[in-house]
Order: sequence, then C-alpha cells, then structure tokens
Amino acid sequence: MNKNDIVRLTITDMTSEGEGIGKVDAFPFFVKDAIIGDVIDARITKLKKNYGYARLEAVITPSHDRVPAKCPIARACGGCQLQEMDYKAQLIFKENLVRNNLKRLGGNPDYEMLPICGMKEPYYYRNKAQFPVGADKNGNIKIGFYAGRTHSIIETKECFIGSPINSDIVNIVREFMERYKVLPYDEISGTGLMRHILIRVARRTGEIMVCLVINGSNIPKSEELVKMLQKVPGLSSVMINVNTKNTNVILSGDTRLLYGRDYIEDYIGDVKYHISANSFFQVNPIQTEKLYSKALEFADLTGSETVWDLYCGIGTISLFLARKAQKVYGVEIIPQAIEDAVNNAKINNITNARFFTGKSEEILPAYYEKHKDEYADCIVVDPPRKGCDEKLLSTIVAMSPEKIVYVSCDSATLARDVKYLTEHGYELKKVQCFDQFCHTVHVEVVSLLQKVSNTRERTNTLDVEMEDYHRSKNRTGVTAG
Ligand code: SAH
Repeated sequence: MNKNDIVRLTITDMTSEGEGIGKVDAFPFFVKDAIIGDVIDARITKLKKNYGYARLEAVITPSHDRVPAKCPIARACGGCQLQEMDYKAQLIFKENLVRNNLKRLGGNPDYEMLPICGMKEPYYYRNKAQFPVGADKNGNIKIGFYAGRTHSIIETKECFIGSPINSDIVNIVREFMERYKVLPYDEISGTGLMRHILIRVARRTGEIMVCLVINGSNIPKSEELVKMLQKVPGLSSVMINVNTKNTNVILSGDTRLLYGRDYIEDYIGDVKYHISANSFFQVNPIQTEKLYSKALEFADLTGSETVWDLYCGIGTISLFLARKAQKVYGVEIIPQAIEDAVNNAKINNITNARFFTGKSEEILPAYYEKHKDEYADCIVVDPPRKGCDEKLLSTIVAMSPEKIVYVSCDSATLARDVKYLTEHGYELKKVQCFDQFCHTVHVEVVSLLQKVSNTRERTNTLDVEMEDYHRSKNRTGVTAG
C-alpha cells in the first residue's frame, strides 16, 4: 500500500475523536467522517508503521446509522464530528466509549451504568458562539467558523447547534462593517479591526450579549452599530474587547461597555448567575441543569454536610449544592472566575459558600494540613480534560469523605482517576453520561464513588455509633486512611 492508493474499508469502530476505524488485513486506517457500519472507499493520506490515515472518497454501502447532515458545511467545519450519525447511535457510541475506558483504563470496576441522558431536540442548544471575522482574497468580509484544525474561515450562514438569533446578529455586524468600511482583521499582517463576534444568549431570561473583539481601542461609528443591534429582541449588552496581540486567544482581559449592562443574567435551576463576556459558563444550559441535578442526587445531602467543589469555575455546582448543604468550599485556579463565584453567591443570598483561588492540588492539601480535624462529607471534582493531579487524589483519600462525585469531560482521565480511587478505599457505584455537546464527540460523565470502609463499619454497630458520635460532637472521629 502506498500514499494516494484507494482502499476499501469496512468501518468497525470509531476513535474518541470521531474518526472511523477500518482495517486492511490487520492494518488499521483512521478515516474522518466515516461511521461504524459504513463500507467506504478511502484514499490513503498518511502511512505510519502500525497505522495510517485515509480520506473518505465514497460511501459504498452506508451504515444503518448514517443520516444526511443537517448542516451543509458539517464535514469542513471543525465544530461537529458526528452530524452524519443518527442521534441515537451517537448516544450509544458515547456511552460505549465511556464504558470501554472504564474497563481498559479504570481497572474494570463493577458499577451501575445509568442510561445516557440525551437531548429531545439536539440542535440550537449552545448559548455561546464565537465567529471569527476575516476577508477572502478579494477583500470581501468572511464571517463563519474555522475549518477543522486550521485558521481558514468557512463562511457560515447558520450554525445548527447555536442559537438561531446568531445569524441575525452576524448579518447586522457585516452590514455595519460594509456600510462604514470597517476592515476585518488579517491574522498574517496584524492589520484590520474586527477580529471576532462573541454572542451569548441566556436561555431562561432571553437576554443577549454581543461582544466585538477588536484590534484597536474603539469602533468608529459604534453608536450606529448599537442602534442597528438594538433591533435584536433581548439585546441587553454590547461590549468591546480590545485584543491587539497577535495571538490565538480570542479574548483579552480588556472588556469595555458600549451599551446596556456588562453582564447578562441566566438561571440553572433556581440559582441565578451573572455572565460577563469573559466568564466561563456551561454552553448547554438544558443539559447542565440535568447534570448538576444528578450530581446533587449522588451527593445525597441532608443539610448538615460539608462539601468541597474542586475546579468550581464560577461556582455553578457549589451554589447548586449550597442550598442543600451546611457549607460548601469551592476551589478554582482563575481569579476572575472566583470573583464571579463570590458575586453569584451574593446575588442569590447564599452565605454558606466560601471560595479559594488556586490549584485544587495545592489548596486542598494545604487546607487539610491546617485543619486535620475538619470532616468533609462529600467532595465534588469537575477537572479539565487532564483530570486530577495525584497529589489531589491522595489528599481526598486522606480526608476520607463518604462520597466523591466526579464530573468529567474526558472519560480516559476519569478512568485513570477511578482506578486510583478504587485502589485506595473507594468503590465506583454509579455512572451516567450526559450529552452536553450533541453532534460532537464530547461526552460528560457524572460518577459516584463511595468509601468502602463505611460499608464494613456498618456491620460493626459500635464503630458506627462511635463514628456518628464523634462526627456530631466535634467532627474529629474520622481520620486519615
Ligand atoms: N465546575 C465548573 C467548571 C468546570 S471546568 C462548572 O461546572 O461550570 C474546569 C475548571 O477547572 C475551569 O474553570 C478551570 O479554570 C479550572 N481549573 C483548571 N485547572 C485547575 C486546577 N489545577 N485547580 C483548580 N481549578 C482548575
């Protein structure tokens, strides 16, 4: 086999990146846009020693799960990887991915897998969109999305996973730029003004924020732009973000108000959140509410508990839990997110949540070192893709909470951490996947780990009574181990 040869493949599996896997004899090829069950012709693009890459040329026999993509640029755009797969099949694929990771990397634990929670309407779910602005060879404005793994902009009329209002806003900005000769940013030369259009839509309140990222300190005729944008129902905030650096980072820290308030308001459950241009906020609010409710159910709080929420972001899970716990401690590395968390606690009159800025793997061990006698009933972690640092896991084990609720956006690192925890006195009880990012390969997982020693202690009534006694008295009864 050589590069550029055409090979016929039966796709038998898919990677966590969403590429189809098909073999010629035992030699595997990875093919973007091919799904399990397809028979395809693919052109070899890269050959390595033990595997290769190929480009889908023709679907010879389509999989039962193959459907036409709703979006005409689904293949070219880097946003969705699974639009050509029936939604039910997407859910099965994601759940299997998690199951396999727990088996392969997680030490094959016994646990109950609750059925994956998908969306009834898996489109138009995102509450945030960031459109890059650029120009084609003739200088015409291009607004859309980046093609997968590149910085070339694909003109996008409508994104089917974003809010339908986004296209109206993009069209207004384009019309404004054309009318007033505002130039799009050119990454290579670093010239031009308009870099990105960031749109946030609050699902519950209907409030909308438009933030224009510019390579300069102001937009000429910005009062006209505001006037044009005011046609958008729900517009509550127009911001500019000044980003003059030659960088891939979309937003700088310098955000200024053009119109309205500098934040929009939304709810998850009955907790209100202020969301500013730079805030991290979960992008699928419908699924987030379901996911947090499951985390709360797993935590099984009665009102007397001390709970830690590590990697707390703007305190979303912390505040959700605070209503049901005695106190909640949140830890987050980004100072601005902690400012939002403190403010969000205030606007909800939540007084039993305290927040720390720093790395979870440094804050928690330091706190535990100083307060060895303090008991944690439940520790929630929601780390980024790389999972938890081992130093954090060993401190959690030493603190010995009854329950650990692990929220994960990468089931491979979840599995690795579950392995550590199950080797150190915990049992994986329940796992549920949530489809927060329909049509993409991402899957969120909530899992419950329970301390094993508890079940043993329960058989010894005296131990249980002593433990309860100590805990109610001065909370010194449970020690490391
Ligand atoms: N629980 C939040 C945010 C989860 S995203 C929510 O549901 O909205 C993960 C968060 O972990 C991000 O906010 C990121 O800034 C933060 N983070 C990354 N590394 C960290 C670390 N070592 N210690 C604490 N927080 C960290």
